[in-house]
Amino acid sequence: MSDKKEFKAESKRLLDLMINSIYTHKEIFLRELISNASDASDKLYYKALQENISGFSREDMAINLIADKENRTLTIADEGIGMNKEELEEHLGTIANSGSFEFKNALEKGVSDVDIIGQFGVGFYSAFMVADEVDVYSKKYGEDKGYLWKSDTSDGYTIEEAEKATHGTTIVLHLKKDTEEEDYSKYLDQYEIERLVKKYSDYVHYPIKMDVTTS
Ligand code: ADP
Ligand code: MG
Repeated sequence: MSDKKEFKAESKRLLDLMINSIYTHKEIFLRELISNASDASDKLYYKALQENISGFSREDMAINLIADKENRTLTIADEGIGMNKEELEEHLGTIANSGSFEFKNALEKGVSDVDIIGQFGVGFYSAFMVADEVDVYSKKYGEDKGYLWKSDTSDGYTIEEAEKATHGTTIVLHLKKDTEEEDYSKYLDQYEIERLVKKYSDYVHYPIKMDVTTS
């Protein structure tokens, strides 16, 4: 069972802007999602240190990028702390970070050529610049149940229980259809993904692995 929930008004406006007003620098979505994956891995890593839970090393907490050309999805998966139902609701249903606010303000002031986008930490919602559906599978470390948060519009999202074997978060981006102006398929290309990872995520101290399935 899943109920459709509405985004908070501010989130809805930011999402509408992300979806309809950004034409440049869409590629930074990958930086944002990898940075969240890295933060979530840090949270688990420090929790393990604090609580003396053995068996965690940064080398083992990989961030996996999976490009599936047949299904036109790009997946970003981490083995971090994960989110439970309440956290999915709270963190993905509301704009949290200040970058989002500044970004939205800049957009609303009518910054026409949005070159400005690279300067802000725009966060999770930047996924909607390249995807028309975003599925977030997550299981919080130490908890039994996994959940799927899903959204395909700026109106709202659903959350339902979902099987997930391991803790952490897996984000599946269903890439938008290509248009004359914008080629979204390139985000399934190994070399393009490698370029973006190198350009924006070189500082990340977890292994970033890639798997491209062609058909
Ligand atoms: P910020 O990273 O600046 O807090 P985001 O919009 O990028 O803002 O993310 C919002 C929140 O959603 C994060 O603070 C975090 O609590 C949660 N979140 C996002 N991605 C993940 C993830 N991969 N694993 C765990 N929590 C996440
Ligand atoms: Mg973030």
